[in-house]
Amino acid sequence: MENINEIDELVKLISKLPGLGPKSAKRIVLKLLNNRDELVKPLVKSLAEVYQNISRCNICGTLKSNSIDCSFSHCKIIEKKYNKICVVENISDQWSIESSNIFSGYFHILGGTISSVGQKKEDLLINSLVERVKKDDIEEVILATSATVEGQTTAYYIEDSLKGIEVQITKLAQGLPVGGEIESLDDGTLFSAFKNRTSLKNGSN
Ligand SMILES: [Zn+2]
Repeated sequence: MENINEIDELVKLISKLPGLGPKSAKRIVLKLLNNRDELVKPLVKSLAEVYQNISRCNICGTLKSNSIDCSFSHCKIIEKKYNKICVVENISDQWSIESSNIFSGYFHILGGTISSVGQKKEDLLINSLVERVKKDDIEEVILATSATVEGQTTAYYIEDSLKGIEVQITKLAQGLPVGGEIESLDDGTLFSAFKNRTSLKNGSN
């Protein structure tokens, strides 16, 4: 294939997507170019819409439409009132937990872990988690970070940040495989990790 800058650029971008290398990126680009009206046109439109209208909430960390405003005491994304909040690293973790139907409550998406490369503590929305716990009358904070060193360090940091607040803090059971990321667990493992979650502390101390 003759080098065409536009195509090279597109291949480079697509190969940055999860699970795709340069080879599959080239296949995707060819498929797109062969289906300009059916794929390229709607894809351009859809990407522009997502870019313009969807963003990460800077309170709870979830993806939301820009027209929705989240506030500490009234989450407009979830109409129902809950007294539990589950803290996860990424949105894909939230999706896994939701699809396994083991938890009903709020989610708080950190957007990474403390030790992830370049991840600043301020970016992890831990301050806003503390605010939510105080203002939303939360009774239990479930730490569902990965069973990795980074995940556990992050859980410890959150536990520390919640010191002095009247709330129960629990952690998913140790049955989680070491190195296990929440999103890669099957429903059964996730279910027992939730069911057998352990209490880290109770009340203010
Ligand atoms: Zn929010």
